Amino acid sequence: MSTPQQQAFLADFRSMSSFGATAGGGVDRQAATWADGQTRNWFRGLVEGHGFEVRYDQVGNQFTLVEFVPGAPYIAIGSHLDSQPLGGRFDGAYGVLAGAHAAMRLHEAFRVQDETPLYNIVIINWFNEEGCRFKPSMMGSSVFTGKIPAAQVLATTDPHGVTVREALESIGTIGDFSLDVAAYLEIHIEQGRSLEDDGLSIGLVESTWGANKYEFVVHGEQAHTGATVIADRSDALLGASSLVVAAREIANHFTTAEHMVITSCGEFTVFPNSPVVVANRVNLLVDIRSTDPTVLAAADAELHRRVAQIEQWAAVRIERGAEHIWAAKDYDAAGLLLAAASAEKLGLTYGTVRTRAGHDSTNMKDIVPTIMLFVPSAEGISHNEREFTADNDMLAGVDLLTDLARRLVTGELVRP
Ligand SMILES: [Zn+2]
Repeated sequence: MSTPQQQAFLADFRSMSSFGATAGGGVDRQAATWADGQTRNWFRGLVEGHGFEVRYDQVGNQFTLVEFVPGAPYIAIGSHLDSQPLGGRFDGAYGVLAGAHAAMRLHEAFRVQDETPLYNIVIINWFNEEGCRFKPSMMGSSVFTGKIPAAQVLATTDPHGVTVREALESIGTIGDFSLDVAAYLEIHIEQGRSLEDDGLSIGLVESTWGANKYEFVVHGEQAHTGATVIADRSDALLGASSLVVAAREIANHFTTAEHMVITSCGEFTVFPNSPVVVANRVNLLVDIRSTDPTVLAAADAELHRRVAQIEQWAAVRIERGAEHIWAAKDYDAAGLLLAAASAEKLGLTYGTVRTRAGHDSTNMKDIVPTIMLFVPSAEGISHNEREFTADNDMLAGVDLLTDLARRLVTGELVRP
């Protein structure tokens, strides 16, 4: 039997999932598109209906202020409402809504109990976590944590030349608000299958994987696919394809029983991409991730050795463009213990996990004590319309998030 509070969460989750809904049961809400704007406005209406205030900072991060004690500092709970193209309805959105409901429950609880919190809560919907329309990913939290200048983000363009500033202005979610936070809490779907395989309902994230993401541009020479003899060709598509294959071979070669290496090419654009033309250029993104910094460094060195090799044999020039790199790093140890105590108290089965995917908490943990929680993803399917998390798993996560948020605002992790 679910409680009225739990039913309210599920009803809100269903309403939220209608924005940018796709025929395949997912959502398409790329950053600062009309659908993202609609979702942001819907969320604003939801929290304002509970008496909370909404503000935007200069790069469109959306802050919902839940005040328990006027003038007290803030604990942040965050995630993101934007999605991949043809993405799932749980990735990010679950965490933002769970944060809002945790805050609503505490707001109600503190009115009737005589417990006095030391902190207020801010729920943060980070701008452009996904990084598909505008690169890089985790854009809003990167500015908030001082890793990328706001001016650089605002001038970043999408493939049609629209800047982040123009896109944010067009959906009306940009401002000049700023706020310091004392600690950060995020709940997200696992996007992997370890919790499901182990029969656990909660994952406590102990560390991130290190990740190196590169933009490569392979330069060739445009030619006739029939008339130009092989010896005269400088085929950018051949060079780029070789790089995709090399990335997979590196993952296979460097993965050991202790440390996995994951590599991928997620974006690949061929110019001019025409039937009878040898490609003159290919832009592609290659990322390489591992739990172990030494293994990652070795795999990364091999990738760059292979790039040089491919330039030779495919007679192309490979230019390395922007890069986005983060090191494997542990989450706050005291936070991990606190989360375990909460899960224990609520009778939830839990285990520790590492995250391969980047999250806004990846940035936040570098500036404040941060706790990251996972709920199961069916079959580990993610960045896919078929992404799924069962209602009872979502609800268990909201209960845990609420208990942890209560501990954080009453000073169990950090004190003002
Ligand atoms: Zn996400």
